Amino acid sequence: MAYVINDDCVACGACEAECPQSCISEADGKYVIDAAKCVDCGACAEVCPVSAPVKE
Ligand code: SF4
Ligand code: SF4
Repeated sequence: MAYVINDDCVACGACEAECPQSCISEADGKYVIDAAKCVDCGACAEVCPVSAPVKE
């Protein structure tokens, strides 16, 4: 299980700073989660203004 960022992402970058695993990065104008490093903590979903990170 890992979180994924859906198309609602507005690329604000807020989640990147919150991730304890540093597994969120910007790529081509949107943000993506490295599923191999995600520990499913939910911190990104809590800080996101549009609830774009969702459990896969
Ligand atoms: Fe990072 Fe936690 Fe979000 Fe996974 S669920 S991307 S570890 S903040
Ligand atoms: Fe996208 Fe939400 Fe992360 Fe902002 S906090 S970059 S809207 S996923």
